[in-house]
Amino acid sequence: MFHRTETVPVKVGNLTIGGSNEVIIQSMCTTKTADVKATVAEIHRLEEAGCQIVRVTVNNKEAAAAIKEIKKQISIPLVADIHFDYRLALQAIENGIDKVRINPGNIGRREKVEEVVKACKARGIPIRIGVNAGSLESHLLEKYGYPTPEAMVESALYHIGILEELDFHDIIVSLKASDVPMAIAAYTKAAAAFKYPLHLGITEAGTLFSGTVKSAAGLGALLSMGIGSTIRISLSADPVEEVKVCRELLKSFGLITNAATLVSCPTCGRLDIDLFSIANEVEAYISKLKVPIKVSVLGCAVNGPGEAREADIGIAGARGEGMLFRYGEMIRKVPEAELLSELKKEIDIIVDHFEKTGEIP
Ligand code: SF4
Repeated sequence: MFHRTETVPVKVGNLTIGGSNEVIIQSMCTTKTADVKATVAEIHRLEEAGCQIVRVTVNNKEAAAAIKEIKKQISIPLVADIHFDYRLALQAIENGIDKVRINPGNIGRREKVEEVVKACKARGIPIRIGVNAGSLESHLLEKYGYPTPEAMVESALYHIGILEELDFHDIIVSLKASDVPMAIAAYTKAAAAFKYPLHLGITEAGTLFSGTVKSAAGLGALLSMGIGSTIRISLSADPVEEVKVCRELLKSFGLITNAATLVSCPTCGRLDIDLFSIANEVEAYISKLKVPIKVSVLGCAVNGPGEAREADIGIAGARGEGMLFRYGEMIRKVPEAELLSELKKEIDIIVDHFEKTGEIP
């Protein structure tokens, strides 16, 4: 898997986005930011699912004030999402935010931009420029007629230019569109046009089902080209689902080292066990593991041993029972009713060994 390493590394709290670092998973809170209790609870759920950076909307003074308390109660970097109002950016920075998402060209007078940049510089806080096909600057819409990938990249370069003029370079850029081909073209052109790390996303992608497919299509195409240093999937769903989709997508490209993978068959007429419920339960069981274990759940002995050879642990069903495999070797037969619990026990043994030694046995 090619991973683009020629981007400039940018520090966000205790993490670094870009350079040769892993693609960082992000999500965004759905709570009112001023509701500290609800926001912290959501961030903890996101972190447990594997979210590495979380963004909150800062749309009023109460939200900016809440950042101080939220920061005390979480351990992953926090990003403030700000539109237009530079005073909210200053207040968020003052309260300990780790990154600001704001477009310098939308802040207004030069002195206001300078103030935000000065505050970010003083605290080592990066700025994400968030270009969105749906809200391009009017001069670009006049020039291009409608949103195009070229207009999006020109918008990014316009905002980058403002920051560079002020000798500010801790920049991350996103170029989001809900149209998949447009987003792919915009990110591809941006990757060729500048070296700042790219934050990938398909905006307003849709519900859990359609949004997952759309995001996987667009962001998968980009990741396969080695483009993207951080990623957020936008779904009309619980944001924990966004994190799960991010992790699955990165796994598909070998871009995540601390996640468990499930291989399961689609089933066919040979099936003699209740495979769907076993596969779903195993998926839920391993979804939060931070261990690079591969588990296979196959319906019968036709492909079971072959797939299990590639996995660390696996099962293949038979009539009323199943075979447990470790690295392709059958270790024992188990009645169907005990198949799931026995597989979980074997997974626990591998996880335990990994946690003690850092290696899969
Ligand atoms: Fe069918 Fe067996 Fe293949 Fe599953 S593993 S699809 S049950 S042949």
